[in-house]
Amino acid sequence: MLEDLYREVILRHYQDPANRRKLPNADAQSFTQNPLCGDEITVAACIEGGRLADAAFEARGCSISQASADMMADLIRGKTIDAAVQLAAEFKRMMSDTDGEPSDELGDLVALRSIRKYPVRIKCALLPWTTLVDALQKYRADPAERSTVGAS
Ligand code: ZN
Repeated sequence: MLEDLYREVILRHYQDPANRRKLPNADAQSFTQNPLCGDEITVAACIEGGRLADAAFEARGCSISQASADMMADLIRGKTIDAAVQLAAEFKRMMSDTDGEPSDELGDLVALRSIRKYPVRIKCALLPWTTLVDALQKYRADPAERSTVGAS
């Protein structure tokens, strides 16, 4: 069943998150919490020449938020800031749109469509993305100043 396949993809990213690590020289960084579920996440990115040269996250929380963060980091690495923000919008659209086909660009993240029937879980899936967009906005507002965790 497709649902089983999706569950496997989510579990794989949750149990073995390649992108869950510190990014000591991050240029853009933000921290957010989801009080509904207790998720906490920091998303960080190194930016070179307008592109996300690297992206990583640190998190505590449920499998959905962490799997979403891990897949997101894979997807945005190497992308321009604009492209990353665009992907965040695509992902949000996929999670809130009940019809419509998801963009091919979202890769493994389509697995998270299977949780759309649980409204509380949608917030978990979106958390890394809203955190990313916040980090990039802060970076754009002041590229020289490295944002600090929990500053907002
Ligand atoms: Zn959660």
